[in-house]
Amino acid sequence: VISEIEFAFRYTKAKIAAITGSNGKTTTTLLLGHVLKSAGYDVLVAGNVGVGFALSLAERDYDYIILELSSFQLDGIQNFRSDVAILLNITPDHLDRYDYKLENYAASKFRITENQTKEDVLIYNADDTFLNTLKTKAKRLPISLQIQQKEGGFYNNNEITINLNNNTMTMQELALQGKHNIFNSMAAAMAARVFEVKDTVIRQAMIDFQNVEHRLEYVLTVHGIDFINDSKATNVNACWYALESMTKKVVWIVGGVDKGNDYDELVNMVDEKVKAIICLGENNKQIIKAFRDKVDTIVQASTMVDAVKQSYGLANKNDIVLLSPG
Ligand code: ADP
Repeated sequence: VISEIEFAFRYTKAKIAAITGSNGKTTTTLLLGHVLKSAGYDVLVAGNVGVGFALSLAERDYDYIILELSSFQLDGIQNFRSDVAILLNITPDHLDRYDYKLENYAASKFRITENQTKEDVLIYNADDTFLNTLKTKAKRLPISLQIQQKEGGFYNNNEITINLNNNTMTMQELALQGKHNIFNSMAAAMAARVFEVKDTVIRQAMIDFQNVEHRLEYVLTVHGIDFINDSKATNVNACWYALESMTKKVVWIVGGVDKGNDYDELVNMVDEKVKAIICLGENNKQIIKAFRDKVDTIVQASTMVDAVKQSYGLANKNDIVLLSPG
């Protein structure tokens, strides 16, 4: 049994960029697609987002293909190879499918570089200690929010620097907000540079990109309370970045089907930013246990309508209601 990605891959001559990670895949994939389209390239964006890869290729081939790949899709490859692979991060997710072992889940993500050759490049998160151990034949292009990279990308003083083949480009203004999005933007810019998109085009495309819905999406403001929909935050790490980017006190709507979540890494962030929690899960015991010492008000809701009504009651002017279920 092979995955649709493996199957369709056999029918294209396109240059391929493949993107995986626990969080940020869709955002980075659409952003890179936007940059290449802005450059006038003939591009298909497919995989775990938008249209089917195989169906699209059945209609015609493209010059460039940008693929979002989930670990499920990577589980079913054999010879699939991309010119550019991007590995954004590895944090616990879908562990129920991988015997609750992070190594198993990571091994599935690492397959993105398995068939790459020295002609290809691997763009990866150098701040993730796990990813620094990754073996690959491809040329490594590390990107980092912390450490300057001789060849690769880094962020310092509100500026992204991309170093590739002794060329340097910098970017300051980005449409997407939050630390995680600086990272996603850096990965997309790096890939665009590998595909020889001009610096000016990359910079402009990073400014005029429209944020993707359900990812830290501003919905509306009612009586001074901002409502933000981050319903695609389906693991703890994504919630961390959502809370990190909040600049006002938060009424947080959280919970769902528990995938074996460990909430410990959120405790300090919740202590700092969250004034009330609304639990929306089937079983909220873990959430209540993790945060009851940090947040005075923790209530439960049985439906989304109920959750939103309660959030409105608990929030005051200048607060934020954030749906980030984790
Ligand atoms: P994916 O396709 O991997 O699920 P998305 O781009 O749809 O990723 O974003 C899912 C959630 O993760 C959103 O809540 C978003 O704000 C958050 N997110 C996006 N990029 C990152 C990142 N690099 N690190 C952590 N969280 C992120």
